[in-house]
Amino acid sequence: MDLGLQDRVAIVLASSKGLGRAVALGLAREGARVAICARTRENLRKTEAEIRERTGAEVLSLSLDVTLRESQRTLVEETLRRFGRIDILVNNAGGPPAGQFLQLPETAWQEALNLNLLSTVFMTREVVPHMIPRKWGRIVNITSFSVKQPIDHLILSNMARAGVVGFAKTLASELAPHNILVNNVCPGVFGTDRHFELARGRAEKSGTSLEQYLQEQAKSIPLGRFGEPAEFADLVVFLASERASYITGTTLQIDGGVIRSLL
Ligand code: NAD
Repeated sequence: MDLGLQDRVAIVLASSKGLGRAVALGLAREGARVAICARTRENLRKTEAEIRERTGAEVLSLSLDVTLRESQRTLVEETLRRFGRIDILVNNAGGPPAGQFLQLPETAWQEALNLNLLSTVFMTREVVPHMIPRKWGRIVNITSFSVKQPIDHLILSNMARAGVVGFAKTLASELAPHNILVNNVCPGVFGTDRHFELARGRAEKSGTSLEQYLQEQAKSIPLGRFGEPAEFADLVVFLASERASYITGTTLQIDGGVIRSLL
């Protein structure tokens, strides 16, 4: 299948590691030009070099914090300066800390909203005016399977990501006349730094070793294993492509069967 991504321009947020990195690599493999970003320059440079080496794609990398309004504007301006247009926006960020309701400091709520809801809202606001005149756009938001089945002790994440679903569903209708498609993707359990960080905390709490905890967790997934970031990227790359032309307003899980509900 030709995905029709050759020479498209994509911004992938929070993409030096994990799922964001895999998505940037996947898009570059299909011939897209990609703008990547993260806060730590060293990791970002490594990812930039790796994508270029493995795909031959043009890569722009900017070291910045996706929660800051100034950084969001810079990212869009620099992408336009370098590539002349923006076709695809993949909204992503790190995850907020785990914790129970009364134990979390009051500041954590606003920080989680900034990280996992408002960065998506404001980046989308920066990019959409550049998609409308071209009558083509793809916006894919990376959320979590928690939007369909909230995860215990991740109340900050559960709260902020539910907002993304409401935002995206409303926006999908509003932007449909402009041929700009908006979808959410919900990762289940993928073996990234974020996953191991959360797993370490949970293992400590339950008095088991990290290894034991990971084994039990993998067993609880119907497919019996964690997902590979490249498998996650395949879905996002498809949604960002020409071939996904009749898909908008959806919230798709990619979770090895973790979510037990019907829809
Ligand atoms: P990760 O920790 O492996 O990678 C996160 C990336 O985001 C890194 O490149 C990091 O540098 C960058 N980043 C974090 N905060 C940033 C900021 N403020 N500004 C710029 N860059 C920033 O995480 P991941 O596993 O790839 O997860 C990506 C998203 O998906 C997270 O929101 C995570 O909570 C969510 N998620 C992941 C899983 C999973 O199993 N991995 C499951 C459900 C949801």
